[in-house]
Amino acid sequence: MDIAIIGAGAAAVALLDALDPSDVRSVTVFDPSESPWRGRPYRPDLDSVLVNVPPQIMSIRFGDREHYARWLDGQAGVHIDERLGAPVPPRAFYGRYLEDTAEAALARFAKSEVVPSVVTGVSLDGRPTVRTADGRTRTADRVVLCVGGGAPHDLYGLAGAPGFAADPYPLARTLADVPSGRDVAVIGAGLTAVDIVVSLAARGHTGRISLVSRSGTLPFVWQRPARTGIRHLTPERLLSLDGPVTLDGFADLIRAELAERGESWDELAAWIDAAMRRDPAANLREQLAMVDAPQLARRIVQEAAHTAGPLAWRLLPAGDRERLRARHFRTVTSLASPMVPCNAAVLLDLFEAGTLEALSGIEKVEAGARFRITHAAGVRTADVVINAVNPPPHAIPRTAEALASSLLAQGAAQDPDGGLAIDFGTGRVVVGDRPDPRLHVVGDLAGGGPFLVSGIPGVAAQAHRAARSFRSR
Ligand SMILES: Cc1cc2nc3c(=O)[nH]c(=O)nc-3n(C[C@H](O)[C@H](O)[C@H](O)COP(=O)(O)OP(=O)(O)OC[C@H]3O[C@@H](n4cnc5c(N)ncnc54)[C@H](O)[C@@H]3O)c2cc1C
Repeated sequence: MDIAIIGAGAAAVALLDALDPSDVRSVTVFDPSESPWRGRPYRPDLDSVLVNVPPQIMSIRFGDREHYARWLDGQAGVHIDERLGAPVPPRAFYGRYLEDTAEAALARFAKSEVVPSVVTGVSLDGRPTVRTADGRTRTADRVVLCVGGGAPHDLYGLAGAPGFAADPYPLARTLADVPSGRDVAVIGAGLTAVDIVVSLAARGHTGRISLVSRSGTLPFVWQRPARTGIRHLTPERLLSLDGPVTLDGFADLIRAELAERGESWDELAAWIDAAMRRDPAANLREQLAMVDAPQLARRIVQEAAHTAGPLAWRLLPAGDRERLRARHFRTVTSLASPMVPCNAAVLLDLFEAGTLEALSGIEKVEAGARFRITHAAGVRTADVVINAVNPPPHAIPRTAEALASSLLAQGAAQDPDGGLAIDFGTGRVVVGDRPDPRLHVVGDLAGGGPFLVSGIPGVAAQAHRAARSFRSR
């Protein structure tokens, strides 16, 4: 069959790697990027922009956890996070792994091509036809949307204001314009904000850095990976439960899982609750001291958020999903997507030196001679404002808006929580009232999932399911 893949980021690489060449006559990949296969996160950038996850869970090949580790073994001079005891290289370095994997995968197909154009539409009339911005068309048997998530939204209408960076990446470009002694405010306190602070520090920034967000809480800190041996919090166990899966039922599974290790969910929940209220520097100090702690409880909950979480979310009643989103969004994202210890140590040093602060209750940001940021405890001014707001889950990236509109106009269904409605087992897009076998999504455009951004294991699993559904045998 002829396959058209729209977007050349990690999701496309995972898909190319998962395809069985005997199913494929040709592959055409569309992406206007100057550095295909790297997507948004793994483009060339500063060396201080690090991979956020230990190598054990950065394999792009579903079912082969060692694939990335084997590639890393052949590389010289990889930066080790001493506390984590694992390599944590720059994200651009990881991008080379994606490039190598894509090139090896493409070499297996009889015919392949990368078209450096934006796709603006797909016609589903008969054999799907892909249309690019330069007016060219190409037909295929299967079309896979791998367009990624969105960029930060400009929540405070600051676009065009001098000193405002709407999209921080690449930081090599954004920070080049930031004089060292100026006061910088970062809108947001997630992993993008951490990248910005660490990169400012690496450049020797001496001005004040203010992280301003709604909650004022930072991501948790990774613990050293350990084998968790999860037995209850698995997708299989969830599917075998009698009756509906509820939030309370899910908490019972966590309780059972931890009790088998002699640990307690109620104690962990109380600790998490306290951490969400505590001063960020105190959290960093405590969590840096816990990187090596032998207890598995936090590791189990964090791992399960990514492995069982996507299915659990789909099985939960709407009211429970809303409860989780409304009350626990920040806690779940902070816990499920922690920062690497070497970055935590940089932030702690800056907090202790008094050059970094975290302000909560952001209300508004106004441009003027200096930016005025109103937060819960008053007003902070800054010379430079860098946007690190996470786009909403399953957002449609700006570059894919025309493409998404063309599909919606032909009956593709939108998920009420964002993204396109898909069939979970195959990634097929629902068109009319049925999954269409000609149209797939791999990546965050797939609606119906939880509010966590898919990491590499998530996109690798989705790519595996899509490739499996292409098999002719
Ligand atoms: C800043 C950042 C850091 C991250 N760090 C990590 C990490 O360390 N570990 C981890 O596991 N996960 C991380 N993630 C999660 C990340 O989402 C996944 O790792 C992965 O990059 C998602 O890949 P993707 O291919 O779905 O999207 P992307 O990597 O965004 O790639 C999408 C591609 O589609 C192209 N495209 C979009 N629209 C069109 C169109 N209309 N026509 C043609 N091409 C189009 C874009 O040019 C882009 O190249 C990070 C995410 C971000 C945003």
